[in-house]
Amino acid sequence: MIKANDPSIQSWLDVPENSDFPIQNIPFGVFKSENVSARVGTRIGDHVIDLNALFILGYLDNLPFANTDFNTDSLNKIMKKGKKATTDLRNRISKLFNKENNDLSSNAHHVQQVIFPVERIEMCMPVQVGDYTDFYSSRDHATNVGTMFRDPDNALLPNWLWIPVGYHGRASSIIPSGTAIRRPKGQQKPSENEAPVFGPCKLLDFELEMAFVTFDGKPLGDSISTKEAKDYIFGMCIMNDWSARDIQKWEYVPLGPFLAKSFASSVSPWIVTMDALEPFSIEGPKQEPEVLPYLKYEGNHHYDINLEVGIIPEKSEETVVCKSNYKHMYWNMAQQLAHHSVNGCNIRCGDMMASGTISGPSPESFGSMLEISWKGTKPVKLKDGSERKFIQDTDTVVMRGHCKKDGVRIGFGEVSTKVLPAN
Ligand code: MN
Repeated sequence: MIKANDPSIQSWLDVPENSDFPIQNIPFGVFKSENVSARVGTRIGDHVIDLNALFILGYLDNLPFANTDFNTDSLNKIMKKGKKATTDLRNRISKLFNKENNDLSSNAHHVQQVIFPVERIEMCMPVQVGDYTDFYSSRDHATNVGTMFRDPDNALLPNWLWIPVGYHGRASSIIPSGTAIRRPKGQQKPSENEAPVFGPCKLLDFELEMAFVTFDGKPLGDSISTKEAKDYIFGMCIMNDWSARDIQKWEYVPLGPFLAKSFASSVSPWIVTMDALEPFSIEGPKQEPEVLPYLKYEGNHHYDINLEVGIIPEKSEETVVCKSNYKHMYWNMAQQLAHHSVNGCNIRCGDMMASGTISGPSPESFGSMLEISWKGTKPVKLKDGSERKFIQDTDTVVMRGHCKKDGVRIGFGEVSTKVLPAN
């Protein structure tokens, strides 16, 4: 077992009940405050810990890191050090904040320099993303979309059970929680027999997804096997992969989505490491037909992560419109990474790969408004009495996720995004 995962460890920092951030989590993110520039941090309870300060004070000695790895506005430099280094870093932080260790806790002057209350800081984009890939790996989502837009009897396209289908997305518009977005504009073709029109998207949608970020991969021409995949994945966050359904429908043939997806993808700001998620790994679904050899895998690569989506109309309360789980994925991250690199494509430190919309089998677990409202035919009633088929201007969409087992809850916090009217 990874030392920092021991459920019996308690921190000398207080952790509220049901916090996403017990000492067993130790996620990594980038924060800034009025007084300090962007830097790498972690979080225990509602305390944000400045790793740059910890380094300067000598608490991260004898690890393969330099001051510049923490005094920087992305996690790329610590990820550049690879799997063992970041595992050791997390274990060191666990040791420093363990109740049974007073190296740091006994020095009030140091504690004061290292800890920030969460309400006093602002979270930044955690990773400088080089390339963003979006998969399409939930069978229920692919089946729902195929049923609505093509043919219920042949909902899955013939390649879907053979290939972890994906497309290359846009990295520049990946934004952290709290950054508002503008309703996108583009071409739509509302009527079969008339010419397309241009204007603000009318069918703005969220996609409930999770994304993983990678360490440096192998040189161009080499591949990462499913067996090696765990050594190349740093951690995960929640992603709201915003989608303009009307723009998508008109533009996506034959090369897939383009402007319907590239205007924004929002992520939760803490990257929860694969180390922290290890206790929550589970077996995946039986894959039938049997997959090709390079997609076969051993061990557990699926994860039991509870997910939910809420809509908050302006000046009103939240209505939860979806409760799903990452375990509903058909293709797992090891298969996605093996497939992505099987042609020799080189994966780089800071690449981000998203799951695709995570829908489960029942309507409450559908991960997009397209499915929840079934193309707009079944509006959802919100607590304030209003109805939604898709997302309206001034709505805020919130996504959350957490795992729970043996009394330990490891969570991601949330990704929250307000939609502003089109420019
Ligand atoms: Mn997507």
